[in-house]
Amino acid sequence: MKKAILVILGFVAVLQGQAPQNEIKTFHVQGNVYMLVGAGGNIAVQTGDEGVLVVDTGVAQTRDKVLAAIRQLSTKPIRWMINTHAHPDHTGGNETVSQAGLTVNGNPAAIIAHENVLTRMTEASRPVTERPLNTFFEDERDFYFNGEAIFIYHVPHAHTDGDVLVYFRGSDVLVAGDIFVTTTYPVIDAKLGGGVEGFVTGLNKVLDITVPKYLQEGGTYVIPGHGRVGDEADVVDYRDMVVIIRDRIQDMIKRGLTLEQIKTARPALDYDGRYGNDKSWTTAMFVEAVYRDLTQKKSN
Ligand SMILES: [Zn+2]
Repeated sequence: MKKAILVILGFVAVLQGQAPQNEIKTFHVQGNVYMLVGAGGNIAVQTGDEGVLVVDTGVAQTRDKVLAAIRQLSTKPIRWMINTHAHPDHTGGNETVSQAGLTVNGNPAAIIAHENVLTRMTEASRPVTERPLNTFFEDERDFYFNGEAIFIYHVPHAHTDGDVLVYFRGSDVLVAGDIFVTTTYPVIDAKLGGGVEGFVTGLNKVLDITVPKYLQEGGTYVIPGHGRVGDEADVVDYRDMVVIIRDRIQDMIKRGLTLEQIKTARPALDYDGRYGNDKSWTTAMFVEAVYRDLTQKKSN
């Protein structure tokens, strides 16, 4: 029992990444889109004449500060919210932000997500007021708000089974959720339907959309789930890292190495200085998750 609780606590720590700081900092990314940092997962806010759209809401502990930071950007009604996935470090402020919002029909702000996010949050017994009730099951969804087209793309089996990318076409900003982070190796939440192939697919989708401005710098900006804003070149590096480590592990599996032997061979060694982490999502956890994902697929 004690062990089970420790495992759960450890897992929550992994999902939340770094401990939330006290202050919520606001950065203007580009066009109509801002990023709020300090609430666990990064938050994106789009503002304009029609109101406010919020992508992800951070951990529950910072929800009031997040709402205050949104209100600093705009006092117009919060009309729409989007969740990139179900984890509590990205959806913990859902209720607070939604209740403070107002749709044109006079309801709390509608939360849009892939239907798997609703399923996962229902399984986790999250209160109804936190759940995204405006769900979709198609590969993508688009709508127009604040003078620009907004595209939502579902990426199956990546960080979880409900991940979406959100692209603001006019502002030219893409919100990647935890498919792209600058702080750790990709977090594969196998229990929520994640897998390494989905990361490759999702990161390639980001690369399809993003365009660099000059000498591979600037242009489309990408807001990661955790860490600092990137551009296409950053996502190329991250995609290459995932592909290289996946291929190394796949090769070791083919050569008959056990998980312990693969861990000892350190297939991620040259990236550990950049993404290695001995606190939450460790290299060993990442290597093991890729191994389990690849070997499971083999037996299917
Ligand atoms: Zn997450």
